[in-house]
This record gives sequence, structure tokens and C-alpha cells, in this order.
Amino acid sequence: MQASPLQTEENFISEEPYYEATGQEIAIFEAAYQNGLPVLIKGPTGCGKSRFMEYMAWRLKRPLVTVSCHDDLTASDLVGRYLIKGGETSWVDGPLASAVRAGAICYLDEIVEARKDTMVVIHPLADDRRVLPMEKRGELLRATPEFCLAISYNPGYQSVLKDLKQSTRQRFVALEFDYPEAALEQQIVEKESGVDGEMAAKLVKFAAMTRNLKGSGLEEGASTRLLVHAAKLIASGVTPVDACHSAIAQALSDDHEMLTAINELSASLF
Ligand code: ADP
Repeated sequence: MQASPLQTEENFISEEPYYEATGQEIAIFEAAYQNGLPVLIKGPTGCGKSRFMEYMAWRLKRPLVTVSCHDDLTASDLVGRYLIKGGETSWVDGPLASAVRAGAICYLDEIVEARKDTMVVIHPLADDRRVLPMEKRGELLRATPEFCLAISYNPGYQSVLKDLKQSTRQRFVALEFDYPEAALEQQIVEKESGVDGEMAAKLVKFAAMTRNLKGSGLEEGASTRLLVHAAKLIASGVTPVDACHSAIAQALSDDHEMLTAINELSASLF
């Protein structure tokens, strides 16, 4: 069998990631972790969920395995498969199996995107059995107390087809994330990009304007991530209007009328 890639140091986060807490999420995650409970992180894209996971992995001194789920992701992609190489068959662990073996924190990002059969392997790991069924190997992998399962999803995007089932969600301790409140978001933008407080405050104001357009033509407003992108361009000498256009408006929409409206908002501010 192939050695678990997590026996290397690469999944350990050695330096403290910059993370500003927005509520009690650190204490709740720690308590869930100590009790072997899996965690569900809800919230819009770009609001700090992945950064939080990196921070918690650093804080709990566990390796972090992140899987970005997509609509082709199957249970075998998570658990592992037999590969034939040079006439020989060998088993290769998938990221979830590696994480269980290494006692890592496994973060399945945007879980509802994955194929339905992935739930078959997640459910027994996410209740008090804490086992990973490896059907193809006829093996049940038991998770050690260090292992932690965390999943994320964005309630804003879900259609009936892509909602999390009660049988799944009722296995998790849930943490709700949202964009940080204005003063904190300003601080994050400053710290992440190097722009001054005044510029960061304007960007946060601009974000609030775009978030108000949600539902009237925009699927989502500007996330904290997009603000940081725009701020980084500005810190590198791009004008604020151009930075907002490229890093924010174009990222949010392809619709010309909407782009004009968003550009007018930024022109009024900068
Ligand atoms: P998500 O996983 O929710 O899509 P990320 O965690 O990737 O979003 O956040 C996007 C970016 O926003 C991060 O790279 C970071 O620059 C910034 N960010 C958002 N929230 C925070 C926070 N609470 N503390 C520090 N940085 C944050």
C-alpha cells in the first residue's frame, strides 16, 4: 500500500495564520473537536471559512486536508482506489482515508457539490461510530480522537436538489459565518493588503453597496476575499476605480447593465 502522504510535514501549518474571530467560533470548534463531534460551517463564499480552518488546524496542531468538492467527486475519490501500474495492483488512499489515518482535520469544502454516494462514507464518520467504510478493501478504518471532520456549504446557493439533507446536517455542530462587521472587515483588508485605513474603509463601504444588490440582479455581493484582492491591486499602484472594476465588478457579474451600475457605485466613492 502506498504510504500516506500525510506522514510528511507538508500538511502541518507551522506559522500562525492571520485570523480575526468574529464570535465564539474558536471556542465552539475546540469544544466540538475535544468531543469528537464533526463541524458544519455555513456561509457565503469568501467570508473566512477556509482561513478559519487553517487557523484551527494550526491551533490544534493537526495536519489539515482540504478537499474542494465538485460535481464529479465520488466516494472513491475520497476513500481511495486500486491503481494498476506495471502489471501490479496497488491501493492508493484518497484524501479522506489519509486524513483519518493521520488523525488530521479533513475539511470538505462545498460538500453539496459532491456526488450523492459520498454521503455513504461521510455519515459513519460523522456520528459516534467514527469509522470510514473502505468497501473496496473490505476494511473499516476507525478514526482516532485526533481526527476531525469539517464540511462547509453556502446556504445562499442551494437549490432543492442541492440542499444538505437532514440526515446529514443533523450529525454536525453548525457554525454560521458571514462577512465580518464593517470595522473588523476594514482591519482585515488593511492587514491582508497593506492599504491604509481610509482606503480599506472605502472598500468596505463599497462592498456593503454591492451586498445590497443581492437579489436584484446579483447572486452575491462582494466578499471579503474580493475586497482583499482589490486592495492588493491598489497597494500595487492600480487606481481604486480600475481595481474595483477588475477585482470586484467583473468577478461578480457578466451582465453589462449590472457592471455599469457597480462601476458607478465605485466611481461615486473613489
Ligand atoms: P471562504 O473559505 O469562506 O470562501 P476564505 O477563508 O478563503 O473564504 O477567505 C477569503 C479571504 O478573506 C482570506 O484569504 C482572508 O484574506 C480574508 N478573510 C476573511 N475573513 C477573515 C478573518 N476573519 N480573518 C482574517 N482574514 C479573513
